[in-house]
Amino acid sequence: MTQQLWDQLIEFSERCRACDLNKSRTHVVFGNGDPRSRIWLVGEAPGSNEDEQGLPFVGQAGNLLDKLLERNGFKRTSVFVTNVVKCRPPNNAEPTDDQKMACLPLLAAQLAVWKPKYILALGRHAASVLLARPFKSLKEIRGQVFEYGDTRVVVTYHPAAVLRNPRLEDIVEHDIQMISRLMAGEK
Ligand code: SF4
Repeated sequence: MTQQLWDQLIEFSERCRACDLNKSRTHVVFGNGDPRSRIWLVGEAPGSNEDEQGLPFVGQAGNLLDKLLERNGFKRTSVFVTNVVKCRPPNNAEPTDDQKMACLPLLAAQLAVWKPKYILALGRHAASVLLARPFKSLKEIRGQVFEYGDTRVVVTYHPAAVLRNPRLEDIVEHDIQMISRLMAGEK
């Protein structure tokens, strides 16, 4: 039944026209990896490589994410990776509040199907959607544990921000390790 719901959601997303991004997309980037995983990673929105391939986090930021995950005991194929906005904003624009709100029911439905225990929110757009609280900067909220329903949420920097500022790499690793410790404590 769960798999059936998931497949219906994929089909639904491919026809989605709930915001203006449907006009310019090549593919809806639904997410990839193992949705049964206890941990999901949620980023911002697809870029041009992701839009072309229909997959999240490919290209440089994706390679960096894979490296950070592997170095901390996670395989990309054993976690589920998606974005708050499933279609690419043209010209590498940041997603607008309207686009994020239009796409939120899809993310909420994805989460409702598999109910992951943990989410690593990558960047402020993911944080703004998943955290029911205002914040001024990512610095203020990273390294803490929040809740989205029954799911525990840790916020960290987006890999694209790490590419721009490599000093953030240690911080992202620290936050991934924090989720590892939470998962280990649960066993
Ligand atoms: S970004 Fe989300 S809401 Fe907008 S068209 Fe794509 S799937 Fe639908």
